Amino acid sequence: MCPPTSCGWTSAASSYGSTSSTLRVWTDYLHITVGGTLSNGGIGGQAFRHGPQISNVHELDVVTGTGEMISCSPDKNSYLFFAALGGLGQFGVITRARIAFEPAPKRVLWVRLAYADVQSFTGDQELLISKRSAGDSGGFDYIEGQVQLNRILTEGRRLSSFFSAL
Ligand SMILES: Cc1cc2nc3c(=O)[nH]c(=O)nc-3n(C[C@H](O)[C@H](O)[C@H](O)COP(=O)(O)OP(=O)(O)OC[C@H]3O[C@@H](n4cnc5c(N)ncnc54)[C@H](O)[C@@H]3O)c2cc1C
Repeated sequence: MCPPTSCGWTSAASSYGSTSSTLRVWTDYLHITVGGTLSNGGIGGQAFRHGPQISNVHELDVVTGTGEMISCSPDKNSYLFFAALGGLGQFGVITRARIAFEPAPKRVLWVRLAYADVQSFTGDQELLISKRSAGDSGGFDYIEGQVQLNRILTEGRRLSSFFSAL
């Protein structure tokens, strides 16, 4: 996919128009721009498996400080490619990005676990991310977690983006 880098991840993905494939690594929060995220890192529930978004980019177009537009990749102008990714805009403006996609699952199993103590929560997260992918041996493809202070478990559903809208 080559989204305009000034748009957010939701509009970038919907402009792609396919439901049979999906971004390999999403951010958890989607209303941040493609360019801004690639200038940082891009962490979400799949990063434990595929690395951050900046490890899943094939090619960039970057406008440098001299006004040149340079295409770069791991094999072409690689110094600029690796500087621009995670470079906080210090090495140029990313105007186009070619990003890794993968086949989208037709169905998903979504599980929410609630914990009252942090040790069990982090212990289980480590166990889940140590498992292989769902396709192989019962592991999960997407794992995220959050700590909510001073809330009862049933309160979270409406107050947090963590909970499904359905
Ligand atoms: C509410 C919220 C939720 C977040 N959730 C996540 C998350 O789930 N996962 C995650 O990884 N991060 C998350 N972040 C952090 C996010 O990745 C960074 O804040 C990122 O910079 C946001 O991009 P932006 O579009 O707001 O960029 P901006 O804040 O506008 O820019 C950030 C930096 O990137 C540079 N920049 C912006 N666009 C470009 C471009 N096209 N080319 C070169 N440099 C550019 C700017 O110069 C600046 O240094 C979150 C941030 C917020 C505010």
